[in-house]
Amino acid sequence: MIYLDYQATTPVAPEVAQAMRPWAEEHFANPHSPSRGGREAAAAIEVARDLVGRAIGLSGGSVAFTGSATEAINWALKGTIERAPADRRRIVTIATEHAAVLDSCEWLEAHGCEVVRLPVGPDGLVALDDVEAALDGRVAIVAAMLVNNEIGVIQPVGEIAALAHEAGAVMLCDAVQGLGRVAIPQGPDLVAVSAHKIHGPKAIGALWMRNGAEPAPFIHGGGQERGLRSGTLSPALCVGFGAAAKLALERGQDDREHVQRLAEAALGVLGPEWTVNGSADRRYPGNLNIRREGLDAARLISDQREIAFSLGSACASGSGRPSHVLRALGLSDAEARSSIRLGFGRYTTEEELVDAVTRIDAAARAQQDIAA
Ligand code: PLP
Repeated sequence: MIYLDYQATTPVAPEVAQAMRPWAEEHFANPHSPSRGGREAAAAIEVARDLVGRAIGLSGGSVAFTGSATEAINWALKGTIERAPADRRRIVTIATEHAAVLDSCEWLEAHGCEVVRLPVGPDGLVALDDVEAALDGRVAIVAAMLVNNEIGVIQPVGEIAALAHEAGAVMLCDAVQGLGRVAIPQGPDLVAVSAHKIHGPKAIGALWMRNGAEPAPFIHGGGQERGLRSGTLSPALCVGFGAAAKLALERGQDDREHVQRLAEAALGVLGPEWTVNGSADRRYPGNLNIRREGLDAARLISDQREIAFSLGSACASGSGRPSHVLRALGLSDAEARSSIRLGFGRYTTEEELVDAVTRIDAAARAQQDIAA
C-alpha cells in the first residue's frame, strides 16, 4: 500500500509511539490528582504543552488541550460569540473553510448570529478587499484557515488578522494543515491545531489563545485547563502531541525540502492533461489536488486499491457530494468529480510516489481509451 492521504491523517512517528508507551502502559495516575504519580503526569503534560506552543510559534498566549481540532474550533467560535458584546453578532469566514468552521457557523446562524461567507477566486484565495468590505463594528470574529485541507492553498492569514483587529474583531486561524509545514504568521488571536496531522495521535487537538482573548468555556465540569476546558487530560495523548511537535520543530526544514522535491517529482510524471486545482505558487507542496478532463475519479480510486488517495477531502469523499471547496473555485460538478487529491510527506519516498503517480496516470489514460 502506498499512502498518499496525508491531509486525512499522517502516520504516527516512531518517536511519538515510543514517547507515549510508558504513559499508556505504566503510568495511569490522574494528572489532576496531587499524588506523586499525578504530579509526574502533570509535569509531562506541561512539557508537551510547551512543545506544542513552540511549534505554533506565536508569543503572548497559552495553549489548552482539547479532544480534537474540531472541538478547538467549536470552542473558539461559540465561546468568542458568548463573550462578545451584544451588538457584535456577525461572523466573517471563507466559503472554503473546513466543516468544523462552516458547520459551527451554521449552528451559530441558527442561534441568532449573522454569517458572511466570503468567496474565493479560481486560485482558491480570498481577496483582502472582500475581507475589508465585510468588516465593521458588528463583527465579533473572523475565521480563516492557513492551509486548505483539500487544495493546499495558503490564505493571507496575517493580513486578515490585521484587518480583523482594525474592526475590533477577534481572528481565529484553523492552522491544522499548516502546523509544522508553513510558518503561522503573527496576528491570529486563536489558533486551532491537531496532533494527528503532524504524526501524532488522534483525538487530541489544542487551542492557542492570545492572553485576554480566551473564549468562554465550552465544556463544563471539573475545571481543568485553568477552568477553560474541563475533562481529565490524557497524559499519553498530550505527551504524543508534544513529541510530534518536537519533531516538527527539529525536522520541519528537512520535511519541507523533502516535500518540495516530492512535488516536483510527481509533477514531472504528470503530463499537461492534468491541471492543479488552486493557486500554483501560494500553496503547500505536499497537497496536489489535480484534475483531468473526463476522469471518473471515484472509479480511479476504487480501481487503484493499492494506493490510498482521496477525492478532494475525506468528508466530501464519504458523502458523494462534490467538494464545496472545488465548487467555490468555480469548477463545474464534472470538473470536481474528475479531481483527486494526492497528499504526501515525511515518510513518503520519491520512488513510491513516482510509482503511484505513474500508475494513476496510466489508469486515467486507460479510462479515456475505454470511453473513446
Ligand atoms: N481543520 C482542518 C483544515 C482539517 O484538515 C481537519 C481535519 O481533517 C480539522 C480541522 C479537524 O481536525 P480533527 O480531526 O482534529 O478534529
